[in-house]
Amino acid sequence: MSTERTEISTLGEFGLIEHLTKNIELQNASSVLGVGDDAAVIDHFGKQTVITTDLLVEGVHFDLLYTPLRHLGYKSVIVNLSDIYAMNATPTQITLSIGISNRFSVEALDEFYEGVYAACDKYAVDLVGGDTTSSQKGLIISVTAIGEVTPDKYVKRSTAQKGDLLCVSGYLGAAYVGLLFLEREKKIYIESPGVQPDLEGESYVIGRMLKPEARKDIIDFFAASDVVPTAMMDISDGLSSEILHICRQSQLGCILYEEKIPIAEEMKKAAFKFEIDPTACALSGGEDYELIFTIPQSEYDKLVLNEEISVVGYMTGPEEGVYIITKGGGKHAITAQGWNHLAQ
Ligand code: ADP
Ligand code: MG
Repeated sequence: MSTERTEISTLGEFGLIEHLTKNIELQNASSVLGVGDDAAVIDHFGKQTVITTDLLVEGVHFDLLYTPLRHLGYKSVIVNLSDIYAMNATPTQITLSIGISNRFSVEALDEFYEGVYAACDKYAVDLVGGDTTSSQKGLIISVTAIGEVTPDKYVKRSTAQKGDLLCVSGYLGAAYVGLLFLEREKKIYIESPGVQPDLEGESYVIGRMLKPEARKDIIDFFAASDVVPTAMMDISDGLSSEILHICRQSQLGCILYEEKIPIAEEMKKAAFKFEIDPTACALSGGEDYELIFTIPQSEYDKLVLNEEISVVGYMTGPEEGVYIITKGGGKHAITAQGWNHLAQ
């Protein structure tokens, strides 16, 4: 980390913007005009445009006590790209707006932008604009992501079909357990600042919290194997909440099998240290940024070829409700918080 501290006031607003954006090299043909004018110009050459935006507020969405600025920049981009992929689209541009106080130095913003550009490079998106303003105290970050999709290949939440397989990518619940570790160490730090944080051995779950990735590989797999999910969304609020969205918007029910929920070994061990149920973390924890989607049963043979995809259940009629079958064989109604043990 840099030890220098340059006050933002030495650059001024325009100097700061120029400093933060001077090395941008546009990499998408659709980015016709980037930073430096009143607006960016994007031409998707006959494709449809997908657009999404997210606002992140210090103290609400992130805690700078344990979030390195580089990771925060990276994650601010990733959470938006994840929404574009969840539409079965390819992200091509982002805009990034920041509200900053004089608490932040130019070096601190450089670190933040390092993360932003690392994500842009990895996912081949162009930063084409933004806005810079002052804030009284906290850091405010707003990212808008723009993507393209072949006309009518975008995938909504509302079009799952009865009998479809319910699938997820990757492993679930680990980001939440990572957050628990970080919050625990923060508490210890506040009570006794001299104590070194004890996060040894928890790099998997903490990495899932601080440095998530977006599932571009799954969208690429769909394209390569000629699969279009019937419904899809990203998993940012926990599996049960997202399942309820798909069921409600598609006007269907579903059966989820607890034993099929993909849970990483490292996460299981970490959850046990907090004496919490790994399944509950997957159902109710957030920020995994995996994808959940539905697919006709006839496509099953294609799906099994991808080890990153798990079939976790299937869609039923609306009258059948939204249920989880537990490992013990119990059948419980799924609620946004996980499942309702009282409903049988
Ligand atoms: P305006 O007065 O039209 O808001 P600005 O002076 O704020 O213009 O911005 C100048 C250019 O710099 C624009 O292209 C804008 O999109 C871009 N820009 C401003 N702030 C940022 C930022 N934080 N990150 C990236 N680009 C930015
Ligand atoms: Mg402006």
